[in-house]
Amino acid sequence: MSLPVPQALRRDSREPALQGATTRITWGSRTDVGLVREHNEDSFLVAQPLFCVCDGMGGHEAGEVASAIAVHTIAATAPATADDTQLGAAVEAANTAVIQGATTGEGRPGMGCTATAAIIEDNRIAVAHVGDSRLYLLHGGNLVRLTHDHSYVEELVDAGEITADEARTHPSRSIITRALGNDPDMYADHFTLPIERGDRVILCSDGLSSMISDNDIEATAVCCPTPQQCADDLVDAALEAGGSDNVTVVVVDVTDDGVEELHRRARRRSAIAWLVGILCILAVFAVGLGVFVNSSYYVGNNSGTVGIYHGVHASVLGVQLSALEEETAVSVDDLPVATQKSLSFGISASSIDAARSIVASYQAQIDADKSKASEAASSAKSAAATEAAAAASAEAAAQAQPATTSPATTSGQEG
Ligand code: MG
Repeated sequence: MSLPVPQALRRDSREPALQGATTRITWGSRTDVGLVREHNEDSFLVAQPLFCVCDGMGGHEAGEVASAIAVHTIAATAPATADDTQLGAAVEAANTAVIQGATTGEGRPGMGCTATAAIIEDNRIAVAHVGDSRLYLLHGGNLVRLTHDHSYVEELVDAGEITADEARTHPSRSIITRALGNDPDMYADHFTLPIERGDRVILCSDGLSSMISDNDIEATAVCCPTPQQCADDLVDAALEAGGSDNVTVVVVDVTDDGVEELHRRARRRSAIAWLVGILCILAVFAVGLGVFVNSSYYVGNNSGTVGIYHGVHASVLGVQLSALEEETAVSVDDLPVATQKSLSFGISASSIDAARSIVASYQAQIDADKSKASEAASSAKSAAATEAAAAASAEAAAQAQPATTSPATTSGQEG
């Protein structure tokens, strides 16, 4: 997916600066013709997450045509995500467009430009680069240049023949060894690096880096509270140093690298996993409970008679886990007190047949008790009858006893 071409790609100090913000990044920018040149041949692009600076070359207004063609082409062909390979391909497409622009009369033969482009996405930055425009990263208060100049003086610095400070004032500092608009087979450097919240990205043309040192750029970048203030102060510093070239600066602050959101997502995933785990455990428990309840029976008190229940003598959230399966004629009051108490809590049975056996044993016990009581009553009745007979016999004997003893008494009185 390609990005839309922004409404305005070129600005100078007479026009409002292009600045803006999203929830992740904040940016500011400024370009200036400088104090020597008549035209501003720099072009830049702020179309978040894509940012780009192109420094035109060729003179007679051709340089600004080349840089404008380059930023238009990069804007139209760059990826929407931080893919440095595709971003490098966009810069190479811009090279083709600049070459074609020179042959079709849109520009002039020999025109060209640099291109330094970046796409900032969450916690990474993709960079594609050709020429001596630069991209710096301010990380933890330290400024690091991420791009390598394609210039003659950079080769001298790499060879150890001159220092970086000497390169800024070297008479051959304007010789570019790789640029857009010359070689159809030109290729762009490209890479991706991690970035963090608090990082500050600076893209600039050599109108900044040739006028002030990297140490001065770092000192300014560290102090400025906003990216727009940083861009303004860096351009002002280049002008105060002489402003011998067009100067363009784009500054992007990373305010949210998405890491916290990743942590929030991880915590949310963890909470969901816990919830799912708990629900699974509850489901297994519910299934197990259902199987247990469905296979259980017990004997209990059914409003005064012994009943057989299917389930367990308990409830969950007010729901009874049993139902009356069979009624019986066995009266609870006919059972021993201890058994009555057990029935009030439910007497578990492994099956309905086992429950029926329990009831049958109760009935047998009641029948036995009644039989014993009946026998006891009969025995008592017999004993009572025997006792009554004995009593009657005794009474009869007692009545007969006075007829034999009275004469002796009379005799005694006579003597
Ligand atoms: Mg320049």
